[in-house]
Amino acid sequence: MKNVLSCIQPTGDIHLGNYFGAVQNYVKLQTEYNCTYGVVDYHSMTMPYSPIKLRENTWNMIFQLMACGVKTENLFIQSLVPEHVELSWILSCVCSFGELSRMTQFKDKSEQLTSSDKDSFISAGLFLYPVLQAADILIYHADYVPVGKDQEQHLELSRNIAQRFNHQFGKEYFIHPEAMYTETPKILSLADPTKKMSKSLGEKHHINIFGDENIIKKQVKTAVTDTGEIDPKEMSPGVKNLFEIVKACQKLDQYQTLMNDYTNGQLKYSELKEIVSDALVELITPIRENYQEISSNKKEHKEQIRASSAVIRNRAKQTLQEVREIVGLTNLK
Ligand code: ADP
Repeated sequence: MKNVLSCIQPTGDIHLGNYFGAVQNYVKLQTEYNCTYGVVDYHSMTMPYSPIKLRENTWNMIFQLMACGVKTENLFIQSLVPEHVELSWILSCVCSFGELSRMTQFKDKSEQLTSSDKDSFISAGLFLYPVLQAADILIYHADYVPVGKDQEQHLELSRNIAQRFNHQFGKEYFIHPEAMYTETPKILSLADPTKKMSKSLGEKHHINIFGDENIIKKQVKTAVTDTGEIDPKEMSPGVKNLFEIVKACQKLDQYQTLMNDYTNGQLKYSELKEIVSDALVELITPIRENYQEISSNKKEHKEQIRASSAVIRNRAKQTLQEVREIVGLTNLK
């Protein structure tokens, strides 16, 4: 069985972009692959954060992933597997400063930091973030990584790091991980469809699938459709995004009817939005019910996650032992 690995940051609730771009795939792939999914709390330390909130958000993200259908035995918390950090250091020594400087997410987040809070600083952790991500992936010898399109560049870096490591130490040790995309690898913000849906853009830019249903309906109702600047012969990004959501919700008949209306110039945006709204409510209702049930038994689920993290940690330890041997570090035994 091939290995699948993916991770998500505990920076808040799962939003529609996370769900359609990655989490939906996490669930689907579990029947065919050996899947491992991490809630990566070390990564969330790269931007300003509150320690109490981080711990709370980490467990919450675990429960939300379980509610979406991710199996407990496939889940781990990154800080319960500290070997990721050791591998990250080793990999940072085969990754160049120049490569990291070209990462667009680093540039975006740095800009966001300096423009939003003049007291904040750009941490070295933020710069090294993609190396830790490479360690997350390579430590489990992942063949495939289900992610959104925004992670393409980081994944390419992971492959380069694997290749450089193998070349430098003269051994085909790490395999080269491939991205796995869903049919909707980039969901856009409904409030500003020129931007990717993301938590970091602020409340109105992401649809929180665990949030208030009425807020979701309002967000869809007020979604930007035409921006006025686009070629009138082409579907605007906002409308295209709404169509993508209908498709991702598996409403394929409605998708086809709406598309015919669009082609005939008869599409009513209000109708499209109503269908999006209904499809989303239908999608999230059972997920929320699962979440309620999981939340009533947090203690037991936390124990299960500690146990699954310990099992997953054994795999990470094995890799580290082999890597330490390859790179010339002193044997722990
Ligand atoms: P965010 O970008 O909201 O901070 P994360 O960085 O934790 O979320 O991303 C978790 C997963 O969700 C990643 O695989 C990422 O590629 C995917 N993802 C995030 N935003 C989107 C989006 N708008 N469309 C598709 N996938 C997304």
